[in-house]
Amino acid sequence: MINLHLIKENLEAIKENVKNRNMSVDLDLVLHLFEKKNSLKAQIDKQRNLRNENAKQLKGKVDQNRREFLVAEGKALKIEVAKLEQEMDHISDLLQVEALKIPNMAHPDAPLGADDRSNKELKQIGNIPQFSFKPLDHVELGETLDLVDFEAGSKVSGSKFYFLKNQAVLLEFALVRYALDILMRHGFTIYQTPDIARESILQGIGFNPRGAESNIYPLEGEETCLVGTAEITLGGYHAGDIVDVSKKPILMAGVSHCFRREAGSAGQFSKGLYRVHQFTKVEMFCYCKPQESDQLHEFLRDIEEEIFIGLNIPFRVVDTAIGDLGAPAYRKYDLEAWMPGRGEHGDWGEITSTSNCTDFQSRRLNVRYKDSDGKNQFVHTLNGTAIAISRAMVAIFENYQQADGSIRMPTILVPYLGFDHIPNPN
Ligand code: AMP
Repeated sequence: MINLHLIKENLEAIKENVKNRNMSVDLDLVLHLFEKKNSLKAQIDKQRNLRNENAKQLKGKVDQNRREFLVAEGKALKIEVAKLEQEMDHISDLLQVEALKIPNMAHPDAPLGADDRSNKELKQIGNIPQFSFKPLDHVELGETLDLVDFEAGSKVSGSKFYFLKNQAVLLEFALVRYALDILMRHGFTIYQTPDIARESILQGIGFNPRGAESNIYPLEGEETCLVGTAEITLGGYHAGDIVDVSKKPILMAGVSHCFRREAGSAGQFSKGLYRVHQFTKVEMFCYCKPQESDQLHEFLRDIEEEIFIGLNIPFRVVDTAIGDLGAPAYRKYDLEAWMPGRGEHGDWGEITSTSNCTDFQSRRLNVRYKDSDGKNQFVHTLNGTAIAISRAMVAIFENYQQADGSIRMPTILVPYLGFDHIPNPN
């Protein structure tokens, strides 16, 4: 949610931002409802003052005629105030529905463009591996080395579900622990978070859980949903709170399962573990003062880079185009790993994403801090993927495959794993 007091003077810029994000919001209606609400509030205040005045006079010494007049006037004022309040509640509800559709503003440097084809590559890190053999994709590797069972996943739960097996199970735990160790070193408090959250929290974070296009699994007959990311639960953690960010930002990291409907996303580029309905993720979430969020966003990106440099996976960093930001993000950076089995000759595939959501989520969830004058202000919130396990596995299987069909393990994971390669059983 954006600050509605700023709509009138920034109407054209907000309309332009909505257009750039490929969204549709009736901003004139929002402005009309906002002004109507304010005018009703002013009328209510005025009538209330008259009522107070009336009550004060009634308490004093007045003759019988005047008393009768004041009693009648008091009754009329009471009815009038109740009528105005009812009208204001109705207008507030309409305003709330419309205002929640307004996306965050975008960072002035975020690239213009309707979708990810306009993302701007900022840098590449690591060397793309050269193989002396035709590299396999992660699905072939996972099945040959008995690491993933897609068939059983599909039989038991449906397509795009899977069972991890054998060393892949240990690899999941090793990756989670590796990421948590890095995060703890950087001062994050770690959490194991609930996999279900209230719908009101999802709405506060910026999801529309029961919308036609929603990626969320809402639970039938309950006002709760399966979470798509621990951003939801970590963001909800301080809903309604006045947090202390006076000395430093609040740095949280949550391990959760993530559930995504991914309706309509089939095809070569969504194959295997790349796009699934359930995966494990370690997510970073931060609350800070507004003036700190740009810098904190770079910090989150640095941590994502550190994690993948440590794993020795080649990746590039992209600045996400405005049309691909979604509603909450002010700016978003993605890391894309090189995946040798993706497409015909290998390709980049997204492995992490970090967003600065400024005060978009904190206004909706009412998370504030006290500024140096003791006034309550909305915090800024940020999120970022530390490790999304199934995509990290795609990158590890495909980049670390060997000529004999085995998969070497990233050196940094060996102490966590207790083995340095996964042999080819054939
Ligand atoms: P997001 O929370 O949408 O920014 O996603 C965070 C990260 O989770 C992405 O960068 C991917 O690495 C991973 N991810 C997102 N959706 C899926 C999915 N359906 N299956 C597997 N991994 C996913």
